[in-house]
Amino acid sequence: MSSVKYVEDHGGRVLDNSKIQIIFWGKKWETSSSKKIFRNQIKFALCKIFVSDYFIKLNQYRDIHKPSLLKIVTNTVSKAPDSFSDRHMQHAIVDLILNKTVAYDHDTAFILIPTEDMKLDCEDPEIVDGGHDFFSYKLRYDQQETIVTIPFGYIINFNDIDQITLTITHEIVEIVTNPEYDGIYGHLGMCKYAEDQQCELADICETSSDSVTISNTLVSKYWSNIDQKCVPS
Ligand SMILES: [Zn+2]
Repeated sequence: MSSVKYVEDHGGRVLDNSKIQIIFWGKKWETSSSKKIFRNQIKFALCKIFVSDYFIKLNQYRDIHKPSLLKIVTNTVSKAPDSFSDRHMQHAIVDLILNKTVAYDHDTAFILIPTEDMKLDCEDPEIVDGGHDFFSYKLRYDQQETIVTIPFGYIINFNDIDQITLTITHEIVEIVTNPEYDGIYGHLGMCKYAEDQQCELADICETSSDSVTISNTLVSKYWSNIDQKCVPS
Protein backbone atom coordinates (compact mmCIF):
# COMPACT_ATOMS: atom_id res chain seq x y z
CA MET A 1 0.00 0.00 0.00
CA SER A 2 1.33 3.36 -1.02
CA SER A 3 0.86 6.22 1.37
CA VAL A 4 1.51 8.86 -1.27
CA LYS A 5 -1.22 11.50 -1.25
CA TYR A 6 -1.86 14.09 -3.90
CA VAL A 7 -4.32 16.92 -4.20
CA GLU A 8 -5.32 17.50 -7.81
CA ASP A 9 -5.69 20.51 -10.04
CA HIS A 10 -9.23 20.40 -11.42
CA GLY A 11 -8.46 23.22 -13.84
CA GLY A 12 -10.85 25.91 -12.60
CA ARG A 13 -10.01 29.34 -11.30
CA VAL A 14 -7.25 29.94 -8.77
CA LEU A 15 -6.17 33.34 -7.42
CA ASP A 16 -2.53 33.33 -8.42
CA ASN A 17 -1.88 36.98 -7.57
CA SER A 18 -4.47 37.57 -4.92
CA LYS A 19 -5.17 40.55 -2.74
CA ILE A 20 -6.94 39.85 0.52
CA GLN A 21 -9.39 42.46 1.76
CA ILE A 22 -10.24 41.93 5.40
CA ILE A 23 -13.48 43.57 6.56
CA PHE A 24 -14.36 43.89 10.25
CA TRP A 25 -18.13 43.77 10.16
CA GLY A 26 -20.45 45.50 12.62
CA LYS A 27 -20.67 48.87 14.41
CA LYS A 28 -19.50 47.38 17.70
CA TRP A 29 -15.94 47.14 16.32
CA GLU A 30 -15.99 50.95 16.61
CA THR A 31 -18.16 51.54 19.68
CA SER A 32 -16.64 49.07 22.14
CA SER A 33 -13.16 49.83 23.45
CA SER A 34 -12.43 46.17 24.19
CA LYS A 35 -13.39 45.27 20.62
CA LYS A 36 -11.14 48.03 19.28
CA ILE A 37 -8.24 46.55 21.20
CA PHE A 38 -9.07 43.08 19.91
CA ARG A 39 -9.35 44.42 16.36
CA ASN A 40 -5.84 45.84 16.61
CA GLN A 41 -4.56 42.57 17.97
CA ILE A 42 -6.02 40.74 14.95
CA LYS A 43 -4.59 43.32 12.52
CA PHE A 44 -1.16 42.99 14.05
CA ALA A 45 -1.28 39.18 13.88
CA LEU A 46 -2.39 39.26 10.23
CA CYS A 47 0.44 41.61 9.28
CA LYS A 48 2.93 39.18 10.79
CA ILE A 49 1.45 36.25 8.87
CA PHE A 50 1.54 38.11 5.54
CA VAL A 51 5.17 39.20 5.89
CA SER A 52 6.20 35.65 6.81
CA ASP A 53 6.80 32.74 4.43
CA TYR A 54 3.57 31.08 5.53
CA PHE A 55 2.00 31.03 2.04
CA ILE A 56 5.19 30.24 0.12
CA LYS A 57 4.50 26.55 -0.52
CA LEU A 58 1.37 27.44 -2.44
CA ASN A 59 3.66 28.23 -5.38
CA GLN A 60 3.84 24.52 -6.23
CA TYR A 61 0.17 24.72 -7.25
CA ARG A 62 0.02 26.50 -10.61
CA ASP A 63 2.60 29.00 -9.40
CA ILE A 64 0.25 30.70 -6.95
CA HIS A 65 2.03 33.74 -5.55
CA LYS A 66 1.95 34.84 -1.97
CA PRO A 67 -1.29 36.82 -1.40
CA SER A 68 -0.99 40.45 -0.38
CA LEU A 69 -2.93 42.06 2.42
CA LEU A 70 -4.92 45.18 1.53
CA LYS A 71 -5.56 47.92 4.05
CA ILE A 72 -8.00 46.48 6.59
CA VAL A 73 -11.36 48.24 6.85
CA THR A 74 -14.37 48.22 9.19
CA ASN A 75 -17.92 48.10 7.88
CA THR A 76 -20.23 50.08 10.15
CA VAL A 77 -22.85 50.82 7.47
CA SER A 78 -24.29 47.44 6.39
CA LYS A 79 -26.84 45.45 8.32
CA ALA A 80 -25.01 43.24 10.83
CA PRO A 81 -27.63 40.88 12.32
CA ASP A 82 -27.03 38.44 15.19
CA SER A 83 -27.92 35.65 12.81
CA PHE A 84 -26.47 36.31 9.36
CA SER A 85 -26.81 34.55 6.04
CA ASP A 86 -24.95 34.55 2.73
CA ARG A 87 -27.14 37.42 1.59
CA HIS A 88 -26.02 39.63 4.51
CA MET A 89 -22.39 38.84 3.80
CA GLN A 90 -22.76 39.71 0.13
CA HIS A 91 -24.35 43.04 1.07
CA ALA A 92 -21.59 43.76 3.57
CA ILE A 93 -19.06 43.41 0.73
CA VAL A 94 -21.01 45.08 -2.09
CA ASP A 95 -22.05 48.08 0.06
CA LEU A 96 -18.36 48.88 0.64
CA ILE A 97 -17.53 48.50 -3.06
CA LEU A 98 -20.39 50.83 -3.98
CA ASN A 99 -19.47 53.48 -1.40
CA LYS A 100 -15.80 53.15 -2.44
CA THR A 101 -14.48 52.11 0.96
CA VAL A 102 -12.90 49.14 -0.86
CA ALA A 103 -12.05 48.65 -4.52
CA TYR A 104 -13.29 45.82 -6.67
CA ASP A 105 -10.57 43.97 -8.50
CA HIS A 106 -10.63 40.59 -10.23
CA ASP A 107 -7.85 39.33 -7.93
CA THR A 108 -9.41 40.42 -4.65
CA ALA A 109 -10.96 38.02 -2.16
CA PHE A 110 -12.94 39.47 0.74
CA ILE A 111 -12.95 38.10 4.28
CA LEU A 112 -15.50 39.16 6.86
CA ILE A 113 -14.83 39.14 10.57
CA PRO A 114 -18.12 39.77 12.38
CA THR A 115 -18.37 40.73 16.05
CA GLU A 116 -18.65 37.82 18.47
CA ASP A 117 -22.42 38.16 18.97
CA MET A 118 -23.01 37.48 15.26
CA LYS A 119 -23.43 33.85 14.25
CA LEU A 120 -24.08 32.15 10.94
CA ASP A 121 -27.73 31.39 10.28
CA CYS A 122 -28.66 27.68 10.37
CA GLU A 123 -25.17 26.48 11.23
CA ASP A 124 -23.94 25.00 14.46
CA PRO A 125 -20.95 27.10 15.66
CA GLU A 126 -19.65 23.97 17.39
CA ILE A 127 -19.01 22.57 13.92
CA VAL A 128 -18.65 25.55 11.60
CA ASP A 129 -16.23 28.32 12.57
CA GLY A 130 -15.56 29.70 9.13
CA GLY A 131 -16.04 29.10 5.45
CA HIS A 132 -15.68 30.48 1.96
CA ASP A 133 -17.93 30.86 -1.03
CA PHE A 134 -18.41 33.10 -4.09
CA PHE A 135 -21.20 35.04 -5.72
CA SER A 136 -21.94 36.79 -8.99
CA TYR A 137 -22.69 40.45 -9.02
CA LYS A 138 -23.61 42.96 -11.71
CA LEU A 139 -21.10 45.71 -11.17
CA ARG A 140 -21.67 49.10 -12.72
CA TYR A 141 -18.75 51.35 -13.56
CA ASP A 142 -17.86 53.73 -16.38
CA GLN A 143 -21.49 53.40 -17.49
CA GLN A 144 -20.94 49.74 -18.18
CA GLU A 145 -22.32 46.73 -16.45
CA THR A 146 -20.10 43.75 -15.91
CA ILE A 147 -20.99 40.50 -14.20
CA VAL A 148 -18.21 39.73 -11.76
CA THR A 149 -17.58 36.70 -9.56
CA ILE A 150 -16.56 37.66 -6.06
CA PRO A 151 -14.85 35.13 -3.77
CA PHE A 152 -15.29 35.68 -0.05
CA GLY A 153 -14.78 34.05 3.30
CA TYR A 154 -16.05 34.53 6.84
CA ILE A 155 -14.75 33.78 10.28
CA ILE A 156 -17.08 33.06 13.19
CA ASN A 157 -15.66 35.14 16.03
CA PHE A 158 -15.27 33.44 19.42
CA ASN A 159 -13.32 36.38 20.81
CA ASP A 160 -10.17 34.27 20.84
CA ILE A 161 -7.14 35.42 18.83
CA ASP A 162 -5.83 31.89 18.26
CA GLN A 163 -9.15 30.70 16.87
CA ILE A 164 -9.34 33.70 14.54
CA THR A 165 -5.83 33.42 13.10
CA LEU A 166 -6.20 29.64 12.80
CA THR A 167 -9.48 29.96 10.91
CA ILE A 168 -8.48 32.92 8.77
CA THR A 169 -5.30 31.26 7.50
CA HIS A 170 -7.31 28.11 6.74
CA GLU A 171 -9.83 30.09 4.69
CA ILE A 172 -7.28 32.22 2.84
CA VAL A 173 -5.36 29.13 1.70
CA GLU A 174 -8.57 27.59 0.39
CA ILE A 175 -9.91 30.76 -1.24
CA VAL A 176 -6.76 31.29 -3.28
CA THR A 177 -6.44 27.64 -4.34
CA ASN A 178 -10.14 26.83 -4.80
CA PRO A 179 -12.21 30.04 -5.02
CA GLU A 180 -15.00 28.59 -7.18
CA TYR A 181 -14.81 24.98 -6.01
CA ASP A 182 -13.20 23.75 -9.24
CA GLY A 183 -9.54 24.52 -8.51
CA ILE A 184 -7.13 22.56 -6.35
CA TYR A 185 -8.41 20.03 -3.84
CA GLY A 186 -8.02 16.39 -2.86
CA HIS A 187 -10.36 13.41 -2.82
CA LEU A 188 -12.67 12.96 0.14
CA GLY A 189 -10.62 10.11 1.57
CA MET A 190 -7.85 12.56 2.38
CA CYS A 191 -10.03 14.39 4.90
CA LYS A 192 -10.74 13.53 8.50
CA TYR A 193 -14.23 14.97 8.44
CA ALA A 194 -16.44 13.02 6.08
CA GLU A 195 -19.12 15.72 6.02
CA ASP A 196 -16.91 18.03 3.99
CA GLN A 197 -18.25 18.49 0.50
CA GLN A 198 -14.72 18.87 -0.77
CA CYS A 199 -11.40 18.08 0.77
CA GLU A 200 -9.46 21.32 0.39
CA LEU A 201 -5.84 22.05 1.24
CA ALA A 202 -6.32 23.08 4.86
CA ASP A 203 -9.13 20.57 5.51
CA ILE A 204 -6.61 17.77 4.98
CA CYS A 205 -4.56 19.15 7.87
CA GLU A 206 -7.43 19.80 10.25
CA THR A 207 -6.35 18.06 13.44
CA SER A 208 -5.17 19.70 16.62
CA SER A 209 -1.57 18.68 15.96
CA ASP A 210 -1.69 20.32 12.54
CA SER A 211 -1.39 23.92 13.61
CA VAL A 212 1.87 25.76 14.02
CA THR A 213 3.03 29.08 15.43
CA ILE A 214 4.63 31.79 13.27
CA SER A 215 5.89 34.89 15.13
CA ASN A 216 3.66 34.00 18.10
CA THR A 217 0.65 33.63 15.82
CA LEU A 218 -1.23 30.36 15.46
CA VAL A 219 -1.79 29.35 11.81
CA SER A 220 -3.36 26.37 10.04
CA LYS A 221 -1.22 23.92 8.18
CA TYR A 222 -2.07 23.01 4.59
CA TRP A 223 -1.23 20.06 2.40
CA SER A 224 1.93 20.14 0.30
CA ASN A 225 2.20 17.57 -2.50
CA ILE A 226 5.94 18.05 -2.85
CA ASP A 227 6.59 17.58 0.88
CA GLN A 228 3.95 14.87 1.28
CA LYS A 229 2.93 16.45 4.54
CA CYS A 230 1.17 19.40 6.10
CA VAL A 231 3.19 22.63 6.02
CA PRO A 232 4.68 24.76 7.46
CA SER A 233 6.20 22.27 9.86
ZN1 LIG B 1 -11.69 24.24 4.79
